[in-house]
Amino acid sequence: MFERPSIDPAATGAIDVRGHDRLSWQRVLQDAVRDIDELAGLLEIEAASLRAVARESGFALLVPRGFVARMKKRDIDDPLLLQVLPRAEEEVRAAGYSDDPLSEQAIADDGVIRKYRGRTLLIASGACPVHCRYCFRREFPYAQQLASRHGWENAVGKLRRLGDIGEVILSGGDPLSVSNRNLATLFDALQTIESVRSIRIHTRFPITIPERVDAGLLALLRRSSAKLVVVVHCNHANELDRSVEAALGNLAEPADLLLNQSVLLRGINDDAATLASLSHRLFDCGVLPYYLNMLDPVTGTAHFEVGDGRARSLLADLRAELPGYLVPKLVREVPGASSKMPL
Ligand SMILES: *Cc1c(COP(=O)(O)O)cnc(C)c1O
Ligand code: SF4
Repeated sequence: MFERPSIDPAATGAIDVRGHDRLSWQRVLQDAVRDIDELAGLLEIEAASLRAVARESGFALLVPRGFVARMKKRDIDDPLLLQVLPRAEEEVRAAGYSDDPLSEQAIADDGVIRKYRGRTLLIASGACPVHCRYCFRREFPYAQQLASRHGWENAVGKLRRLGDIGEVILSGGDPLSVSNRNLATLFDALQTIESVRSIRIHTRFPITIPERVDAGLLALLRRSSAKLVVVVHCNHANELDRSVEAALGNLAEPADLLLNQSVLLRGINDDAATLASLSHRLFDCGVLPYYLNMLDPVTGTAHFEVGDGRARSLLADLRAELPGYLVPKLVREVPGASSKMPL
């Protein structure tokens, strides 16, 4: 198990952020819940009954208080709780599950992961606002593979030499773990690469810590001359409360496109009504569904798996129920393929 990096505000330059909302998202993150008994208390669940299903894990519990506030009290099967609670099932070793199911670790180089033509992923940070139990990069060796390791220079130089990169996708971890000041440096550097037409940000921050969408972030995004695509990550309509809706509303101004990707998760969103209300609620928030990802078979996540047959039938139900633009693409990542594969 690799040690997951955490955000050190001094190291990210966040300490120097000036202005009205200074340090606010960093404070929210610092104040996140990391203790299973405390989580039980907040949810009014007896610590003993939560302990009966929970386990301490090297990939530790991390959940912001605002996200906990959206969970139903006294419900041990709450769909938001199930996304973040380290459980005993994670110790099950299932056939076909591995630490690097997408063969990314061999490809990653200075934080640049290039699998597809024309677009390339940049591991901008290893830190996250929340620890999602099903995360496909939960075993990723971040410390060795961060684009920010030598400033951004090595990564940006590598992108420039690739020559044909139309879109750079900032990923992680969560790229918005990086301070506004450092992000601005990265954005400026990326825009000196002639081929880059768009910058895409893959982030769960607006959903889990909406305070991250602060004035400084909006200002730096507004300055970008490249097209800006923001893909948030939300799996259930209950994640989208008023504070998230407001943050997404603010992001809609600098962003040219605001999309969502979800993971299909057993017991969390694997029924048609749940997925349909997620799509409707996203649309309320100005976001369109992009991908519904099949679970990547990473060690310790087999209890979240939904079979192909069930997934296809859910999608058929969604197509019947929703306007086409609210139906996500059901895809799976296949190592070596030239794109995400439709089911
Ligand atoms: C998913 C992914 C992308 C983006 O794929 P799109 O289908 O364009 O969203 C790019 N690079 C890597 C390595 C990816 O895993
Ligand atoms: S926010 Fe994204 S990268 Fe981080 S743990 Fe969750 S799924 Fe994984």
